Amino acid sequence: MATVQSISQWHDTADLVIAGAGVAGCATAIHAIECDAGLDVLMLEKMPEDKAGGNSRVSGQTMFLPRDVRKTIGYQRQLNATNPVPEAQLRSWAEEAVMLEPWVESIAREAGFTLVRTMVDDPAPLFNVCEFPEFEDSDVVEYIGTLSNQPDTVLTPSGLWEAFRRCVQNRPVRRQYNSPVMDLVQDPDSGEVFGVQVRSPSGETRNIRARRGVVLAVGGYENDIGMLRSYAGLHDVVPLGSPANTGDGVRILQRAGAEMYNFTQYSTLAGGLWPAIQVPGEPTAFMRQIAWDAWSWIDIAQDSSRFIDESVDYRLMHYKEKRFGVWRDTAYPRVGVTHMVFDDATREAQKLVVDLMTWSALVADYRWSEDNSAEVSNGVIVSAGSIRELAEKIGRDPGALEATVDRYNAMVHAGVDGDFGRPAEKMHPLDKPPFHALRILPGVICTGGGAVRNGASQVISTTGDPVPRLYSAGELGSIHTGLYQLGGYLAECMATGRVAARSLVGAQPWC
Ligand SMILES: Cc1cc2nc3c(=O)[nH]c(=O)nc-3n(C[C@H](O)[C@H](O)[C@H](O)COP(=O)(O)OP(=O)(O)OC[C@H]3O[C@@H](n4cnc5c(N)ncnc54)[C@H](O)[C@@H]3O)c2cc1C
Repeated sequence: MATVQSISQWHDTADLVIAGAGVAGCATAIHAIECDAGLDVLMLEKMPEDKAGGNSRVSGQTMFLPRDVRKTIGYQRQLNATNPVPEAQLRSWAEEAVMLEPWVESIAREAGFTLVRTMVDDPAPLFNVCEFPEFEDSDVVEYIGTLSNQPDTVLTPSGLWEAFRRCVQNRPVRRQYNSPVMDLVQDPDSGEVFGVQVRSPSGETRNIRARRGVVLAVGGYENDIGMLRSYAGLHDVVPLGSPANTGDGVRILQRAGAEMYNFTQYSTLAGGLWPAIQVPGEPTAFMRQIAWDAWSWIDIAQDSSRFIDESVDYRLMHYKEKRFGVWRDTAYPRVGVTHMVFDDATREAQKLVVDLMTWSALVADYRWSEDNSAEVSNGVIVSAGSIRELAEKIGRDPGALEATVDRYNAMVHAGVDGDFGRPAEKMHPLDKPPFHALRILPGVICTGGGAVRNGASQVISTTGDPVPRLYSAGELGSIHTGLYQLGGYLAECMATGRVAARSLVGAQPWC
């Protein structure tokens, strides 16, 4: 924290300073101008303009837009049962969430998009609309929305974020890129926030005065392995979202004296850990394919044994499974580094990574080849003429891997997976050489810990009082502390951003 007394020069002044250009930052900016068209809003973004947008830009673009406050509170309270959030925060979330639908529709119209709804009774949904139908009030999930501008396509990659970005551009919001917020300018005694320190594109520290307040909307910490180890108990994991999300917000909030919460969530992380592939040298990872046409593949643990029914579509439950009556992570994060072992029929059948989301697929420079042949050539996929040779190449016991593949192939021919119950129609033999192996790590999509915020999106200090003029929105300090309903993060970004905007519009300027 920089003390206000140490500031000899202010380089710029705005009514409202927003850090981060994801959906939370954009929602804050749009709504602030809606509430007061004369407001001077400054948005500071760490990345260059073509790489801005955070996880919002590369997410699945789905929103949970409820219509009933009481049921939203009831359903969310059950999702949070193991790690409850304050009731006032729940109420604020629910009251704002039910106002989002018409607002999102207006954003969509302005940006040339359409709100596309996948209803809970859709006969062939792309995803699980209501993730926990066994919970009371789960009928509050009537549909999951997204914004699309492509006819006949349910999901437009980056569509929702793009609509918000366009609406920010349409408004008098000053935007500065390549400008990471490094710290707050605060009174050391009262904690009052007077502005921020930002690193300018030329590398100097600039002091920016925020007359009404500051909103931190800088996302999570999935690109800081030290924080993942310490706060989430994770190691050997890879990020699926923006490389910019390095936990800057967490550190700024800690220095500001904020009360931190929610780093360890229900199982590991509310959004689950997804099988992911990192191309060496790339900062982020690809998500492994989630819609399979090819079935001549298995996943093996570090001892070369299978450990799961690989055909279960765990993406529908955010990589959770209900066992012994409780929801927990699947075996993937517990097993850690695994290998997908497959034959050439699977290699040539389809792209092994997801196209619709993740930073690697949508923004990064490396392009995964359609038939995976480039990855065979560059060694991301390890190939060999026999299973024995493949095992040697990936540093595994050849006898153990051969035994696993032989056992699997025998079960394919018998038509029964006696080990994990994989359905016969989703078991094809590994019999078409060359054979291949792909290193799989658990991939992180969300890291929701942060500062406790109250129903006005104010950051709460360790004394229990709001830190004056400091607000947070989005994933940084999320209420998704337990089980996670699809679309909840992006809806929370909008709800907390809008609430922060209204609180700030009503705040008295300090200068
Ligand atoms: C692959 C994937 C799929 C997902 N699918 C869904 C989904 O379908 N539905 C859903 O609800 N959620 C989904 N999520 C989660 C959701 O995307 C995030 O929770 C949400 O986008 C967080 O938004 P945000 O605005 O808080 O942060 P972000 O969108 O991450 O934006 C943070 C911004 O802050 C910038 N920044 C970082 N540090 C600084 C700094 N120091 N100063 C200034 N700027 C900074 C970043 O560059 C970035 O632009 C998904 C996430 C991933 C990765």
